[in-house]
Amino acid sequence: MLQSANDLHVEHVSKSYPTANGALSILGDVNLSLARGDALAITGPSGAGKSTLLYIIGTLDAPTSGAVRILGSDPFALKSAALARFRNASIGFVFQEHYLLPQCSVIENVLIPALAGKGADAVADRARMLLDRVGLAQRIRHRPAELSGGERQRVAICRALINSPPLLLADEPTGNLDRHTADTIGSLLLELGREQNAMLIVVTHSAELASRLPRRAELIDGRLVEK
Ligand code: ADP
Repeated sequence: MLQSANDLHVEHVSKSYPTANGALSILGDVNLSLARGDALAITGPSGAGKSTLLYIIGTLDAPTSGAVRILGSDPFALKSAALARFRNASIGFVFQEHYLLPQCSVIENVLIPALAGKGADAVADRARMLLDRVGLAQRIRHRPAELSGGERQRVAICRALINSPPLLLADEPTGNLDRHTADTIGSLLLELGREQNAMLIVVTHSAELASRLPRRAELIDGRLVEK
C-alpha cells in the first residue's frame, strides 16, 4: 500500500509481556491509519490494553511485533537520543494526571517541551496564544497548585501543543474531572486538535466523550475494531 508521509500507520502490532507462566498477550494484531485532521476515540474494558497501545503509538514502548510509521518514518529504528528528539517534536501527550512541574509557573510548564528548540520569543508568543485560547491568559505566572484540576489539564493541553505536533495523544484526559469540567476539557482537546490539523487519539472510558469524536474504535481481545 502506498503510504502518505503525513499519516500514522499501525500495522499488525502485537504486544506481549513475559510472565512466570509464559507470555501474556495484550495486543494481538492491531491495525490503524490516521490522516492529518482525523480524531479517533479508543474505548474498551479496563485492562484491554488501551494505554499499552497508546504508549506504543507514542513511541514510549516498542511493540513485540509489527510496525508503527509516523510521518513516513519508523521511530523504533532510531537510536534513543534521536527517538527522544523525534517524540518531542512530533507527539504531544495529555495524560489523566497533568504531570505539571509544581515549582514552575503555568507558562514555564507550557514551554518545557520547547526548551530544546530555537526562537525563544516566537515560542513564548505561541505559549501565550495557547494559554489565551484555553482561557488562562490571566494565570500564566501562577503555580499549578494555585489552579483547579480542570485548569491544570488545560495547561497540560497547551504544553502538549507547544511544538505543533502532528500527533496528539490523550490517555483518559477527563478521568479525574467532574462532568462539567470534563465536557470543557473534551471540547478544548477536540477544537485545538482540529485547529492544529493534528491527528488526535483519545483513550477514554467516557462514552460521552467518545461519541463526540468523528472516529471511534473499541479494543477487544487484543484487536482494534472500528465502529
Ligand atoms: P487499559 O489501558 O485498557 O486499562 P493497559 O494497557 O493499562 O490496559 O494494560 C493492559 C494489560 O497489560 C493489563 O492486564 C496490565 O496488567 C498488563 N501490563 C501492562 N504493563 C505490563 C508489564 N510491564 N508487565 C506485565 N503486564 C503488563
